[in-house]
Amino acid sequence: MKNVTSSEITVCGHTYDEYIEMIKAFHGHVAPGMVIGGFMVDLANRNLPQGEYFDAICETRACLPDAIQLLTPCTVGNGWLRVVDLGRFALSLFEKYTGDGVRVYVNSRKLDDWPEIKAFFFKLTPKKEQDSEALIAEMNRAHTSILGVQKVTIDLNAIKSSRRDVFTTCWLCGEGYPENDGEICLGCQGKAPYSHFEILSSGED
Ligand SMILES: [Zn+2]
Repeated sequence: MKNVTSSEITVCGHTYDEYIEMIKAFHGHVAPGMVIGGFMVDLANRNLPQGEYFDAICETRACLPDAIQLLTPCTVGNGWLRVVDLGRFALSLFEKYTGDGVRVYVNSRKLDDWPEIKAFFFKLTPKKEQDSEALIAEMNRAHTSILGVQKVTIDLNAIKSSRRDVFTTCWLCGEGYPENDGEICLGCQGKAPYSHFEILSSGED
């Protein structure tokens, strides 16, 4: 078991302390998932050719997308980061035309030496009983020793979205929506998560 101190850790060119400040500013609080997520993005970067830009896939919605958005040019909004919610704490960075890249994941088989980290990923302790300081300290000592790296090629057809090619106006709500979704928009088909809504303004004339 190798032990690393936080003063030796860098995250995509930032010192550890700088990265912690970046997390606070971006994510609101120092979430443990953001700490290990930063180590994962850094490790992925180290396994890719330098000076090129890569797209990203994140396999969970929890914390890791924010680490990617903080440390790479990839965001959900610019389309370079896709969340494919497989429920695994893993990410891939890949070249967008060939799909060639690397995947970094948490190797569960390495977690027996790290009880706090294991309890975190397997949700063995209720969140309010979680000792975040002890957990983050353990993450610093474990650093990348619990992370696996794979060479991957992304199936670019599988992640391509063609659903939003043609838009039309929904006759019920009057908003634009992807025509493929049907006669009315998905919101008016009952898929909107609002238990109540009312119009306060529909724009000024
Ligand atoms: Zn509608």
